[in-house]
Amino acid sequence: MTDDDLDQLIRDLKLGQPRAVRGPGARAACGTASGYRRHRANGESPCAACHQANTETQREHYHQGVKAPERLKQIAHGTLKGYKQHRYRKEQACTMCLEAARADSAARARTRRAKGNTQ
Ligand SMILES: [Zn+2]
Ligand SMILES: [Zn+2]
Repeated sequence: MTDDDLDQLIRDLKLGQPRAVRGPGARAACGTASGYRRHRANGESPCAACHQANTETQREHYHQGVKAPERLKQIAHGTLKGYKQHRYRKEQACTMCLEAARADSAARARTRRAKGNTQ
């Protein structure tokens, strides 16, 4: 392989790949917390894959700061926060919290549609 061939190969490979995750003009892949931040930074509603990834990342971070269970705060039932608290405790969310979570995701879907985001 000649040097020219090698250069061409490198160019081809770069063309087939997304741009770097960091730096100006960076485009993070969807389905990652970075992708979520990219959407937010661009003023977009994060797509479902990114939203999911970000939720999971936050949950992981949250877990890292876990104190003893008895020091957990009271669950804020009937709110999205309450729903997350249930999930965090690995228990079935109560009806009020499920309702709140459903309302939240419905509101998010409406926002997505309102912005004309087809994702
Ligand atoms: Zn995305
Ligand atoms: Zn609840």
